[in-house]
Amino acid sequence: MLRWQDDLYLPACSLYLDSRRPRPFCFVSHAHSDHLPQDGAHERVISTAQTLVLANHRLGKLSIAAPTAESVQSIDPDTRISLLPAGHVLGSAMIRVERPEGSLLYTGDFKLRPSLTVATAEPTPADILVMESTYGLSMFRFPPWQQTHARLVELVGAALAEGRQPIVLGYSLGKAQEIVRILTDNGLRVTCHGAVAAINEIYESLGTPLGAFRRYRPEDFHGPTSLDLAERGVLVAPPQVARSAFVNRFSSPLTILMSGWGMQKNARYRYGVDEVLPLSDHADFGELLELVERVSPRKVYTHHGYAEFAETLRARGIDAELARPEAQMRLF
Ligand SMILES: [Zn+2]
Repeated sequence: MLRWQDDLYLPACSLYLDSRRPRPFCFVSHAHSDHLPQDGAHERVISTAQTLVLANHRLGKLSIAAPTAESVQSIDPDTRISLLPAGHVLGSAMIRVERPEGSLLYTGDFKLRPSLTVATAEPTPADILVMESTYGLSMFRFPPWQQTHARLVELVGAALAEGRQPIVLGYSLGKAQEIVRILTDNGLRVTCHGAVAAINEIYESLGTPLGAFRRYRPEDFHGPTSLDLAERGVLVAPPQVARSAFVNRFSSPLTILMSGWGMQKNARYRYGVDEVLPLSDHADFGELLELVERVSPRKVYTHHGYAEFAETLRARGIDAELARPEAQMRLF
C-alpha cells in the first residue's frame, strides 16, 4: 500500500506524497516550498483548491488542473481518497486512503491547536499513520497559545509606547497571517512587508479576513513624508529581514520572531532578534503524541523532524519507525 520510491509513494493508485520532484501524479498537502516540486511541475495533483492557488502564487509553475478526490475514486473503484483539514496553513490537508487491505493517513505538516486563520485539524483513525515529527523532542512543549498571543500584544504595545518600531517576524505563508490576525484583533495598526501583504490578499480572497492592514511603502517609514509611529503601527515581515538593511534602517527597532524554535536556549542570539515567542504552525511534542492516540494506528512512520520521536513511540509500545529508504517499508 505504501512504499519508498525516492519519496513516499502509494503504488495502488500511482500517487506520490509531497514529492519535491515533478511527478506524474502527486498529493500536495500544502503550499510551503519544502512540499512543492523544485524544478518543474507535477502533471496531476490532488490538493485543496486553496493550496493550488497559494502554490501557483509561490512557484508560478504548479499550473495543473487538479482532479478532485471524487474523480480519483472513479479511476480506481477499490481506492477511496479523502482530504481532511491539517490545521497547518490555509488549505493544508491530510490525505486518507482506504483500500480493501486497510486504511492509511498521511498528515503532511499539521497542528492540533486551534488557529485564527486555519480550520482545525480533523484526523481520523487509520491502520497506518505517516506523520511529520518536526518538534519530536520533549523539550518542545509550547505554552498555551493564549499566553503567547498576550505576550506578543504586550511587547508590541510597550515598544510603541517607548517610541521603538516593533517588527514581528514570521514566515510569509501561514505564520505571518496568524500574526496579523492576533494584532488586528487586539486593535493594533499593522503594516505588512510586500511578501506578507501578497499572501494576505490571497487569504482574504479565499474568505479568510485578517483585519485592516497597510502594505509597506518606504516613504511611509523613512524620509520627509514618513508617518508617525502611532499611524504606521507594528510591522510584520518574513524572518529573513532580521539581519537585513530593512531592519537596520530603523534607529531603535524591537524585533520579535514567532517560532517554535524559540523553546531552544539562546534562540534570540541564534536568530539575531530581540525576542522569540513560541508560536508555531506545527504540532508540539504533546500534540504529536495526541495525534497518535487519536489515529490509533497499527503502525506509525515518521517523516521530517527528529528521528528520536519514533524511538519515543516504540518506548510507549507503539510500532513506529522512520519513513526513509533504509527502513524499506513493507506494509500489509
Ligand atoms: Zn509547512
